[in-house]
Amino acid sequence: MQLVDIGVNLTSDRFRDDREAVLQRAREHGVTTLVVTGTSVSESEQACTLARAHPDQLRATTGVHPHGARSCSAETVAAIRELARANPSVVAIGETGLDFNRDFSPRADQEAAFARHLELAAELQLPVFIHQRDAHERLIGILAEHRDQLVDAVVHCFTDTRRALHDYLDMGLHIGVTGWICDERRGAELQELVRDIPAERLMIETDAPWLLPRDLRPKPRGGRNEPAFLPHIAEAVARHRGETPEQVAASTTAVAERFFQLTQG
Ligand SMILES: [Zn+2]
Repeated sequence: MQLVDIGVNLTSDRFRDDREAVLQRAREHGVTTLVVTGTSVSESEQACTLARAHPDQLRATTGVHPHGARSCSAETVAAIRELARANPSVVAIGETGLDFNRDFSPRADQEAAFARHLELAAELQLPVFIHQRDAHERLIGILAEHRDQLVDAVVHCFTDTRRALHDYLDMGLHIGVTGWICDERRGAELQELVRDIPAERLMIETDAPWLLPRDLRPKPRGGRNEPAFLPHIAEAVARHRGETPEQVAASTTAVAERFFQLTQG
């Protein structure tokens, strides 16, 4: 089984002491490619540095998470552009989007930063890695204004409603599913909805170190998630779609390779 983890926060401090071992365990579990999420200029730089050091295993995204949107200026976007241009390992713009659940940045700042990221993605002809929490209506409003210019976009860590899912599918977007689906309470709706996602639009991710699959046994110390647990998520996705893990692995890997143009890195 060969898998692509499309969202790993590998620059997180929680991987500081054993990053190489984490990458090694991912390989041992068939997770052959990891897309390292950039969430700020400095984390995007680090993601690019990591990808340069591991060209066979890692790719990077560059962007500013909606949590940091309050400090996302024109200069910030220029720095993101420069990183994306200078590093062939950059396969998407993001993480960007709207988070009206935590509201760490004012909503107006989040919306402005999101629009700037979409413009940049259109300019560079790169796909977009989108985060959305409690902001679906606003998000599709902004997306609709840019959709025609965008090559592709994925709504990562999808946890929203059936309506939201179908709005995204209608817009031709891809969907990223995390270990949220392994939570029999919080993930109950997703467990049903995952069947609605056409195979050619579905990708999987750990969002490590966050979102440890709740039913993982034995539980790792400290509750840290890591890419080596992606096969566990693939199995849950397969179970709820009525497919085999091998089918899910083959199709999500093929989709990720096409979406991020992984073979051309
Ligand atoms: Zn996110």
